[in-house]
Amino acid sequence: MRTTFYTLLSLLLASCSLIDYNIEPENLEVHYNSPEALLLKPYVDNYLQEASKRGIRLHHKTIDINVEMGNEKEVLAKACFFCRKLTVYNNSKLWDEMKNRSFDVNYGGGMKVLAHELNHTLIDADHRGIKGETMTVILDGQKEEAILSIMTQGDNDIPDLTDGTLSFLWEEYYWDELFEIIPTENRFVVE
Ligand SMILES: [Zn+2]
Repeated sequence: MRTTFYTLLSLLLASCSLIDYNIEPENLEVHYNSPEALLLKPYVDNYLQEASKRGIRLHHKTIDINVEMGNEKEVLAKACFFCRKLTVYNNSKLWDEMKNRSFDVNYGGGMKVLAHELNHTLIDADHRGIKGETMTVILDGQKEEAILSIMTQGDNDIPDLTDGTLSFLWEEYYWDELFEIIPTENRFVVE
């Protein structure tokens, strides 16, 4: 009985230590499973740089990036809590779009989905808002729509990082909101 108790206790402690790392983003070991997976490195590096700038610590010290065929055209990528794995589907619509843009990290649609999935698996972040929910951006008295949060499901209304009108949202809202430095807002007024 006592042996069972200690076995269970040590298993519990071992499993906690597996997920309770306090890893600096620059020290994360990223394993790309193929040359195709390596195409995603600029996106992963960008996410890690933004996390590092904000003093974020990750819950894992390694992650695997796999590229494979998926079942649904609409799904670019999947990750899960605690699994230390990001799977990206090379027969999805968004993959085609990323490819058309030569895997340019400034493509908002690609950056959004990869940052979203990395946040699920590296810091166990949950979704925010309802699927497709947007916020209102008031800019020079004009109303614009933009997705509520990178953690909102759906890839609509996310500006490119070089978008002339709304790219500033990445620096002034999305990255900080992603890492919970600032709250999620339904309305963003530019003074
Ligand atoms: Zn998600």
